[in-house]
Amino acid sequence: MQPTGSGELHIGNYLGALKNWVSLSREGVYDSLFCVVDAHAATSEYEASEMPTRIFGTALSYLAAGLDPDRCTVFVQSDVPQHMELAWYLSTVTPMGDLHRMTQFKEKSEQFKQNVNAGLFTYPVLMAADILLYRATVVPVGNDQVQHLELSREICRKFNARFGEIFPEPKPKLTVTPRIMGLDGKRKMSKSLGNAIDLFDEPKVVEKKLKGAFTDELKLKMGDPGRPEVCNIFTLHTALTPAGEVQQIDAECRSGALGCGSCKKRLTETLNAELGPIQARAAELRAQPERVLRVLESGAERARSIATQTMADVRQAMGMNVRAPQS
Ligand code: AMP
Repeated sequence: MQPTGSGELHIGNYLGALKNWVSLSREGVYDSLFCVVDAHAATSEYEASEMPTRIFGTALSYLAAGLDPDRCTVFVQSDVPQHMELAWYLSTVTPMGDLHRMTQFKEKSEQFKQNVNAGLFTYPVLMAADILLYRATVVPVGNDQVQHLELSREICRKFNARFGEIFPEPKPKLTVTPRIMGLDGKRKMSKSLGNAIDLFDEPKVVEKKLKGAFTDELKLKMGDPGRPEVCNIFTLHTALTPAGEVQQIDAECRSGALGCGSCKKRLTETLNAELGPIQARAAELRAQPERVLRVLESGAERARSIATQTMADVRQAMGMNVRAPQS
């Protein structure tokens, strides 16, 4: 995740990705690594003096949401310079045409016309490096990153075909709610669009934001039948409310028995119950910043040791090793 805004995340990040990270790392099936991608964030204009706070805020959010540093590795991208090194080598097997097709590049260059930089264009190559550097097989992301991940797979195949089987092909892993819409109901939830509920919003703020949230435009008054499949509030219920209750909400919405106001009230309670413990852990961590910094330091150390090995293999495969025995 990019450390944007104040570094803290919104519930789109949480329900689309972070919650999944927590359960995957707890299952213990994978050796997992989670990164704060500050080098990616440098593609948007920012104040250098604010970046440390943003990085800290994102790392703190990871830990507050439940990532346990004893079960996974949490680190900051710029602490492992091999990400940038691998990105360069991968860029030499990445077709320009593929980068031109990336929706996020098109959207961002439209949104930030004054700063369409080369980093924004090659962003997916750095993302491929983030993944391949650790020979990752599974990448838990939200829907908006699936296209980039497809390109990572393509880059992986191209590299392996040219230089030998160095990397396994990574696969995306999505949650049941891979795309959380914003409170406007029109666009993806995003901090920069001002349509987000933040992970650290207080209960009253959550209540107010949900009250004003867009639902189904055809359900105008109490008693009108609703269409849960087009309602963002219902999507949030599917992510947070127990399955049996979700079915009941679905049926009552369709019959008109459940009004939007009551449906939002139920969601407010469920969401605040989910966020409460996360916010309590965040407050604890804020009072002991050195705990977060220690996690990042040892995470970086572990990440660097994997990265060093991968880069030795990559350089060897690419012939960038003049000291190798000459035949
Ligand atoms: P970002 O830092 O915005 O690139 O996003 C970090 C992670 O959160 C990525 O895995 C995204 O796919 C995911 N994400 C961001 N916004 C949303 C959203 N509105 N719904 C679902 N997932 C999201």
